[in-house]
Order: sequence, then C-alpha cells, then structure tokens
Amino acid sequence: MQKFFKDAKEHALRDAPKETCGIVVDNIYYPCVNISDTPKDNFAIHPKDYLKIRSKGIFQYIVHSHPEGGDASEPDKKACKASKIPWYVYLIPQDEWQIINP
Ligand SMILES: [Zn+2]
Repeated sequence: MQKFFKDAKEHALRDAPKETCGIVVDNIYYPCVNISDTPKDNFAIHPKDYLKIRSKGIFQYIVHSHPEGGDASEPDKKACKASKIPWYVYLIPQDEWQIINP
C-alpha cells in the first residue's frame, strides 16, 4: 500500500471530527486546509493549497475523510466527475478506503 494512504489517514485521525482533505501528486500526500463552513460534513480545499500543490505536478487523486463513515455522497461523486481524476475517501469508523472515479 502506498505511503500516501498512511499519511492521509494520520491527517484524518488528527483533525477528526472535521473532514480532512488533501491532494496526491507523484504518490505524495499533500494535506490541505479545509475551509468549508461546515467542516464536519463537507470539505473545501483552500485555494492557496490548490495553487501550491499544482506547482508540484499533475494531480493523481483528491483525498478526503468521512469522520462518521458513510459512502461517498452525491456531491462527492459530482465533484469527482468535475475534477476528472479519481478520489479516495477514508471512512474513519470502518478504517476503510473507498475510491470514486469520474
Ligand atoms: Zn465526502
């Protein structure tokens, strides 16, 4: 298993009960600040993080956590589609990863 899963999981556990988010480039996880007004239920990547990480290379995956578990939501699937790259969702209570594809 790639190290980015471990790093993303640690970030998720550290910031729970808020959702965490990050971007993977070249199999490296870059944690982002969640600027959502409702961070326990949603995430929004800080634009500064987005720009900073874009300079590292091509985005492989968008990653976020679900502190209360539960499958990827409809808004997740829509946003994944719009991003045109796969997303990983970490479900904290199940200690499981889900992938959604655009
Ligand atoms: Zn979600």
